[in-house]
Amino acid sequence: MAFITEVMIMNILSIFASLFVFQIWLERSSHIRYAKTKAIFGFSAISILWCMVFPLDKFDSFILDLRQVPIIIGSLYGGPIVAVGLFLLTLIARYIFFGADGYLTFLLMYLLLTPILIYFSRKFLQLTLKRKIIRSTMVSLGFSLFILVIITLFNSSHLDANLLLKLVIFPPVSMGMIIYIVEIVLNNYHLRQELIKSEKLAVISHLAASISHEVRNPLTASRGFMQLLQQGYTSPEKMRTFLDIAIKELDRAEGIIQDYLTFAKPAEDKKEAINVSSEIKKIVEILQPLANMNSVELDFSLAPYMVFGERSKFKQCVINVAKNAIEAMPEGGKLSLHIERKGDYVYLNVSDTGVGMTKEQVDRLGEPFFTTREKGTGLGMMVVYSIVDSFGGKVKVKSEKGLGTTFTILLPMYKNAVEVIG
Ligand code: ADP
Ligand code: MG
Repeated sequence: MAFITEVMIMNILSIFASLFVFQIWLERSSHIRYAKTKAIFGFSAISILWCMVFPLDKFDSFILDLRQVPIIIGSLYGGPIVAVGLFLLTLIARYIFFGADGYLTFLLMYLLLTPILIYFSRKFLQLTLKRKIIRSTMVSLGFSLFILVIITLFNSSHLDANLLLKLVIFPPVSMGMIIYIVEIVLNNYHLRQELIKSEKLAVISHLAASISHEVRNPLTASRGFMQLLQQGYTSPEKMRTFLDIAIKELDRAEGIIQDYLTFAKPAEDKKEAINVSSEIKKIVEILQPLANMNSVELDFSLAPYMVFGERSKFKQCVINVAKNAIEAMPEGGKLSLHIERKGDYVYLNVSDTGVGMTKEQVDRLGEPFFTTREKGTGLGMMVVYSIVDSFGGKVKVKSEKGLGTTFTILLPMYKNAVEVIG
């Protein structure tokens, strides 16, 4: 008998392979709240199935495999819900793979193991790496010894070096190694989360400095006018012009603060499936008065697609783009909102027949405080880009000076709404 068999290597490799899946899963779902729990469950579930496909050995009705390693790791890291989930998965898989033979003993063993795991999962995440390894190896060793006793009780002739190696030595040792790598993966994940947060904080504090500057200007200007009025130096006509300017300036300051707050507000973390069509209907209602005031005709078409993210942000983003479009048509024109699907993306086209932009202007879109409008804040597009980014989407711009502009917002499609309803 070879000391380490091919099957043992196969088992360990399969667990490592699922660790890669775990890593990619975490990587891709950085915004979703329960990502970690889901990823831990996914990693353990795949590993359990893998291990059962390649058992190390069989004794009578006992199947010797490494499945206890992912079960223990998954339950300790994931807590009670994952523990129960993995327990149920193992119950089903054991029956499908190996039938009813020896099922009762198996069931009793796992009925005993699961509560123990749930108990040991409390505060497990706060332990140091060394203690995590010790605790999980001990649980694994204890479980192995328990199985050993049962196997020997059934038939003591099985007790030999082979059994000791595959049952008592191999699983706890694999456990230690895998916990070590799981810790590395989780550490990377947490570091990346911190980085994203601190990046946003950097932008916010950078902006805060310029915001106070941008807000102080209109305030100082308005104060100056009021002082002139107070001193009674002005004629009534001049007074009206001064007041007009002061009101415009104050509106601008208000707009800046509004946009800034939208950007700086922490994510609500409440992501959901958004029906693009019904949101567009609401947005059109909100925009209708502004469009009427500017003699802009609104044209829109709907299609039943869903995207995934924060609803209020989605609305904010489309409104910002559409408002710019209306404001680009001071002499009136036509604003169209169209939805279509290309591949895995929902395309939201917002086009206007307004003043258009030069290439230089297009390149500067999204830059804080870039505005060509008297009352503009130059923050609207920055908010749009940061929201679309958080949805995992892209913005494309086509514009011709004097002819008009088309903004295309590409968002990853979540589902066809018809599928959701039907
Ligand atoms: P604001 O609307 O406050 O000026 P934005 O960030 O929303 O700030 O837009 C920045 C600038 O981009 C606008 O001032 C305008 O020059 C240009 N822009 C945006 N959308 C359009 C559009 N649809 N047509 C023409 N110019 C646009
Ligand atoms: Mg704007």
